[in-house]
Amino acid sequence: MKAGVLALQGDVPEHLAMLRSVQPDAIAVRRPADLAEVGALFLPGGESTTIARLIEEAGLWEALSERIREGLPVLATCAGLILLARDLAPSASGRDPPTFRALDVTVRRNDYGRQRESCEAPVRVEGLQDPPFPGVFIRSPRILSVGPQAAPIAWRQEEVVGVRAGPLWGLTFHPELADDLRVHRLFLAAHGRRVTRSARAARSTPRTRRR
Ligand code: GLN
Repeated sequence: MKAGVLALQGDVPEHLAMLRSVQPDAIAVRRPADLAEVGALFLPGGESTTIARLIEEAGLWEALSERIREGLPVLATCAGLILLARDLAPSASGRDPPTFRALDVTVRRNDYGRQRESCEAPVRVEGLQDPPFPGVFIRSPRILSVGPQAAPIAWRQEEVVGVRAGPLWGLTFHPELADDLRVHRLFLAAHGRRVTRSARAARSTPRTRRR
């Protein structure tokens, strides 16, 4: 089982670099044939309306929808979370993408206003010890409500900034832009033996910058 990053738009190079330092054979997913090769997928941050359009143009919408229904583990960050969300509350722009309606949350795009559009703030993530995770927030969506089929897994102070529903994880912040591999490792360790072995191997190699 390989892991892949949906590579249509957004912070794809960062995500791939991060993922490859945990799992070297991770691939970029651009076509249905790529999707068929992966056993876990990362949906990167970017512009959700654009990514949704490109998914459709690449002929990936149906295939991805089906894989998600079959239980594909997906770690979705920011725009990725928007695409997984069961419901979107209308955003101020009035331009909202279609979604896979897979993760039982309601979110609103770009809901923090200009002042808090982008920042870094400590995030508490279930399953990680101290120190808190450095949460990078960039024009992030706000999680307005968490439905009965999902559960919070990350908090910025008291606010929920991450949820999961079985193999689907959605975060409003960008672990791929932090100098910290713990969220990627946690997700990969939770999903599949092959990936767990790679994560262990990566842990025992010398590390310089990354924790
Ligand atoms: N504001 C973007 C959107 O609505 C998400 C931002 C991000 O992924 N950093 O799609």
